[in-house]
Amino acid sequence: MVEYSPADEILIEEKWQELEEACRKAKVFRREDDWQFVRRAFFLAKEAHKGVRRRSGEPYVIHPIEVALIAVREIGLGKKSVVAALLHDVVEDTEYTLEDISRIFSPKIASMVDGLTKMSGVFNTDSSEQAEYFRKVLLTLSDDVRVIIIKIADRLHNMRTLGAMPHNKQIKITSETIYLFVPLAHRLGLHAIKSELEDLCMRYRFPEEYEEITRKIDDTETERQAYIEKFMAPIRAVLDKNKFQYEMTARVKSIYSIWNKMRRKNIPFEEVYDLFAIRIIFKTTPFPSEKTQCWQIYSCVTDIYKPHPDRLRDWISMPKSNGYEALHSTVMGPDGIWVEVQVRTQRMDDIAERGFAAHWKYKHQTIAQEEDGLDKWLRQVRDALNSPTESAHEFLDNFKLSLYKRDIVVFTPKGDAHTMPYGATVLDFAYEIHTNIGNHAIGAKVNHRTQPITTRLNTGDQVEIITAESARPKAEWLDVVITSKARQTIQDWLKGERQDNIEYGMRHLEESLAEYNVTLNGRVLRKLMAAYECRNKDELYSKIGAGIIKLDNLEQLLKENASRKILKFWKLLIPGTTTTGDEDLDDDATTLDDTLAVDENAPHEPVFEMAECCEPIPGDRVVGYRDPQSGHIIVHKSTCDKLIRLAAQYGENIIREQDIRWSQQKAVSYLASVEIYGIDRPSIVLDLTKVITADFSINMRAISIQSHDGIFEGTISLYVQDIDSLNMLLDNIRKIKGIERVKRLLNT
Ligand code: MN
Repeated sequence: MVEYSPADEILIEEKWQELEEACRKAKVFRREDDWQFVRRAFFLAKEAHKGVRRRSGEPYVIHPIEVALIAVREIGLGKKSVVAALLHDVVEDTEYTLEDISRIFSPKIASMVDGLTKMSGVFNTDSSEQAEYFRKVLLTLSDDVRVIIIKIADRLHNMRTLGAMPHNKQIKITSETIYLFVPLAHRLGLHAIKSELEDLCMRYRFPEEYEEITRKIDDTETERQAYIEKFMAPIRAVLDKNKFQYEMTARVKSIYSIWNKMRRKNIPFEEVYDLFAIRIIFKTTPFPSEKTQCWQIYSCVTDIYKPHPDRLRDWISMPKSNGYEALHSTVMGPDGIWVEVQVRTQRMDDIAERGFAAHWKYKHQTIAQEEDGLDKWLRQVRDALNSPTESAHEFLDNFKLSLYKRDIVVFTPKGDAHTMPYGATVLDFAYEIHTNIGNHAIGAKVNHRTQPITTRLNTGDQVEIITAESARPKAEWLDVVITSKARQTIQDWLKGERQDNIEYGMRHLEESLAEYNVTLNGRVLRKLMAAYECRNKDELYSKIGAGIIKLDNLEQLLKENASRKILKFWKLLIPGTTTTGDEDLDDDATTLDDTLAVDENAPHEPVFEMAECCEPIPGDRVVGYRDPQSGHIIVHKSTCDKLIRLAAQYGENIIREQDIRWSQQKAVSYLASVEIYGIDRPSIVLDLTKVITADFSINMRAISIQSHDGIFEGTISLYVQDIDSLNMLLDNIRKIKGIERVKRLLNT
């Protein structure tokens, strides 16, 4: 093995000096033994990598030092990260083990190096394994975001030195970079690194385009500089006059973003008008607040140039979820050219360029909210990683998407801001606030208007979740939510509930069958499954368990072949539903139209009619009124207004309560109207009719539903046998997702 040559030694020593200096400048060493700690890592790396060279020919150890330099200088990471960066390739490429690292440094350093080592392994496997492996790796290291950041620094240095690689390797490495590292850097707010990675990728993948744009930027440089001077001069005068301590620069967009814009808008280079932006970075004074000072500068600028009304972005009041803070405004500069002006404090600029890592530097003055942003993102990553339902590929795609997703900011009624992913719904927000609120959500007041849980939220919405004790998660909810937290919670709940229901349902069915001396066997099951339109026995059990299927008519069902009513209603309500036993369907038709309740046990064999005004049903307290014309006895509820009026005027026609008794005859049905109110959603009518038709003792005569502004209001006329079965039905309707209020309509 070749040792280091004298020339190597000089090169390495220089790099190390550079790192030491950068560390001192960034105040990485707080105590003298901190320096010793880092120095030990340097010596170990140097020793471990001795005799190994990179493709460029330089000693390998230069690479970890460069990575550590990026970590300190460009990202602002601390001592542990510098050590982990120096050691990041030691375990993978040399004889040293994690135990060695743990012993020589600390278990924490060893675990960081372990994460980095595992991540390297990912990129050496084939793509399908890679997805699963990457997921596992992220799972192990997501506790420490520094590991991801160091990995990004590692990738940046590899990209900077990509020229030495053969072409096929360049393609592999740039692809990985675009696929994963760029979005990661973006999400972590490492803006400068993200831009550089993009530019480097483009340089190796689209060299001609890269060269062309670079050349054109150079060609227009003089002209642009002249314009920029003209633009800045009056601003400078005002800011100086107001004694601001600032730096004003013009920043040309990155090559990649110019190219991107040209492609996206299909325009030539010359038509990219926002080629540059003016950035004003200033030192804050203790008073007034940072924010106020930013607006003061904005005010100075817009006193000179008219601002574009639609292009003001206040990322100070509401920082981006990757931590970015600044005030952006586009103003009309000389010659009618729109120019973007960005106002930031020194601190904001640091965070903008170096991302979250810079927050640690400002910890003493960082608001808790900013730290939350990162914690929250990590939590989301962890939630997503823990979701066992997604395949590794799905996960990786979703994860990658989530890195790019725009965020929205939603407020609670008290004004607490919650950052949610773009596309989040009311239900996502409910789960964001609390699992319990999510599980019982039925809708929300979005900007004071009642909206269904399916509503997609927009930035600035104020959302007050409406809950109901009786509301429960439903399988359809999975289509409503986009956050992994909500998804996972619903899935867990459904799984638990379904299992409970299956067990309970099976026991309940066995007990019910036992009353008729029937044992639960395959034949009985098939019969019941057909009758209740269940595809399998688990569905049957769980519906029984959930109370969706009532077993009131079990005796009848065991005798008959299948339920005709159910089939009939499925057929009426859901066109295209296939039914069996059609020939029996007409038998029941009469009960549908027959509203007359004839009490055969009544003393004088009179004709009874149920009053249309109040629609009494068996179980209601009723009063009979003998209609003078027809002689029929009209049965009113005792509370009916019309009855009270009649009784007051024609008291002699009133039949005493004890003279009319409700018949126990089961064949007779009574009409009742039910009023339903809730949050509208596509399949609510279907769900309603399912619940209603699941109960054999109830038939539906009419259903009328109106929906406006996401609110669903309806009246259903039903034939019921008695008040108990009606109340049971009302209970079941209440369980339907979206139903807020159900009550019997009292037409009194
Ligand atoms: Mn490396």
